[in-house]
Amino acid sequence: MFALEIEDLTKVYPSGIQALKGISLRVPEGDFFALLGPNGAGKSTCIGVISSLIIKTSGCISISGLDIDAEPHLSRAGLGVVAQEFNLNMFETAYDVVFRQGGYHGLSRRQSRINTERYLRALQLWDRRDLKVRELSGGMKRRLMVAKAMVNDGSVLILDEPTAGVDVETRHATWDFLRELNGEGKTIILTTHYLEEAEQLCRDVAIINNGELIANTSVSDLLHQLEVETFIFDLAAPLEGELRLGGLEWRRREGSEVEVDLPQGETLNRVFAEFSRCGIEVISMRTRASRLEEAFVSSLGEYQQ
Ligand code: ADP
Ligand code: MG
Repeated sequence: MFALEIEDLTKVYPSGIQALKGISLRVPEGDFFALLGPNGAGKSTCIGVISSLIIKTSGCISISGLDIDAEPHLSRAGLGVVAQEFNLNMFETAYDVVFRQGGYHGLSRRQSRINTERYLRALQLWDRRDLKVRELSGGMKRRLMVAKAMVNDGSVLILDEPTAGVDVETRHATWDFLRELNGEGKTIILTTHYLEEAEQLCRDVAIINNGELIANTSVSDLLHQLEVETFIFDLAAPLEGELRLGGLEWRRREGSEVEVDLPQGETLNRVFAEFSRCGIEVISMRTRASRLEEAFVSSLGEYQQ
């Protein structure tokens, strides 16, 4: 069974903005999954639809095998969502925020007390439990939102940019906690616009850009894809038979074009040398713009802290 299944999800806001243009993806149970994409890609819209804060335009979503339209409450019983924006009552105490959320999920008072203590302790907030939300630091508020989302002890936890704008220490503490939860078998799905966060934490990744899914693969495979640069060579004559390019990966294109993957560290001289060795003449060459690179141009390098 899948923890989350999204089928052809679209969302058009009343303003006319098409935030999601037919997204389909599946997250296996127990996975640690990143929904990665630059600002404005549609990540929060997607999370909003899953958590019922946003009404979708079309498409289907199932959580742990239950359709959210057919089973609006049951499907979300095992789900915890941490929103991107602060959505806490500033005048409640940290304890009450979490405890009352337990009640909202239908936990008994006793169970809610047990879970509240467990998650406030796990997130290093137990000694601050009597402080009002407005008395907590930004990092503490964010951790409180995680505790609140966890209080029903759900099997699927979705976090929308849990570490955007937090200090390094809080980021690492959050990562450790999420790894621990995932180790207990919970499915963790997070959105991020930091490739490095996905790399550090996640096993699988989907990338959205402009409301479209442009990749859905394992993190290791994605990193491999980002490491190679692809060049297109126009040859003097269409290629006949096989071509050995000294271990470089290549593919045929239309007409007399071939594309060659150049891993980091390899030089173009090497490719030309291989072509020459095979007696192949190259007329022109260009780089192939990668959709992945386009998606990350704005966010690569932003993560230096
Ligand atoms: P991300 O979380 O990936 O940064 P969002 O889902 O917040 O992206 O936004 C996707 C697109 O939808 C953006 O163009 C954004 O301006 C637009 N958008 C988001 N929320 C609303 C809204 N409530 N009304 C209209 N447009 C919105
Ligand atoms: Mg967002």
